[in-house]
Amino acid sequence: MNKYKELEHKAAGHDGTLTDDEGLLVFKPALTQEIDFYKAVHQLSTASNADDSFSNGDVPLYSWMPTFLGVLDEGTTTTTTESDGAAVPQYVLEDPHMDSTILKQVVEDTDKITLNKKKYIVLENLLHGFKKPNVLDIKLGKILYDENATADKRQRLTMVSNTTTSSTLGFRICGMKIRQNSVTDYLSQDHYENDFNNYVFINKKFGRTRTQKDIKDAFKLYFGADTLSKERISSLLTIFLQRLQLFYNTLLNQEIRMISSSLLFIYETDSDRWDILNNEDSMLRDNFLQSDDDDDDDDDDDEYEGEDNEVLTAKNSRLKHSQLSSMSLIDFAHSKFTPGQGYDENVIEGVESLIQKFKDLIEDHNGTL
Ligand code: ADP
Ligand code: MN
Repeated sequence: MNKYKELEHKAAGHDGTLTDDEGLLVFKPALTQEIDFYKAVHQLSTASNADDSFSNGDVPLYSWMPTFLGVLDEGTTTTTTESDGAAVPQYVLEDPHMDSTILKQVVEDTDKITLNKKKYIVLENLLHGFKKPNVLDIKLGKILYDENATADKRQRLTMVSNTTTSSTLGFRICGMKIRQNSVTDYLSQDHYENDFNNYVFINKKFGRTRTQKDIKDAFKLYFGADTLSKERISSLLTIFLQRLQLFYNTLLNQEIRMISSSLLFIYETDSDRWDILNNEDSMLRDNFLQSDDDDDDDDDDDEYEGEDNEVLTAKNSRLKHSQLSSMSLIDFAHSKFTPGQGYDENVIEGVESLIQKFKDLIEDHNGTL
């Protein structure tokens, strides 16, 4: 029997984000603006010309985002009753693509009572398939408030930006959830908490006290897994740099404004996984709802495979999970489309300086190989 539980390995953010017991999906307490943004991107991704940007060689925006499965809402029902006559809460799947079988299955199997009376945005769990992930949340942008912010909030967030690398580099480390390594031993007491299974949570104080001078060390902390060889770390630095460059190109073609969104970096620290996958990583995340079999068009078995429901398909493709790392864009509580207004300079500048940092890191790292 499934139960919702708190999402493990969170690098930052508010409490209340849940996952199912297989850790396939993530349920994030939803705000209207974030729902609207996911819906708008989802619509674009299903439009007939959706893959046009792929054919220009650019990666479409939705490929960087967790797969959006819909919104889960507590509905009001008076008709369904238990034997004792008490009303049973029902969860209503709100939008059209919510007829996704995978989601229905998880929702039906799940103990409904553990959910509060809230709206949740249902997303692919980006950590699924990783055995021992190191997770890093980097908040993008120098400007951290949008036009809806109160004067108080503006003032507070301007201060946060001015006193952190948000203003100088256009990004800030929000937090990390990483395995203990030889660098974590040197962290100052108020920058971390020890967690289960030799994990360390690096808090926002750490990120807020980084400077242009020592930001590189923060990345060395994140990429400090003692379980991986220098060559493996080197290949991680390279693939993240390439992703940042591709993501930069994606952003150039987007007329959006994303305030306080993050890049979520994940990599596998379990060396057995690296052995099994023969050190082969992939640039972009696998398609969450499609199995590898989908390309075998002329395969006779297809008729039978066609009957697979999405749950099985997603589970199978997760079993074949072939990622050693991924980079995703998350947190759209203050994001919107702004047609005709050009690219998002605030975010692009941050990505530009991240690219520079990764080039520097690679140079340092390869100097020690
Ligand atoms: P908040 O609005 O509270 O800042 P975020 O969307 O930024 O919420 O998420 C906070 C944290 O939760 C992230 O740092 C990340 O570790 C985790 N997280 C968010 N979305 C996902 C996801 N789809 N899969 C896995 N982890 C996630
Ligand atoms: Mn966030």
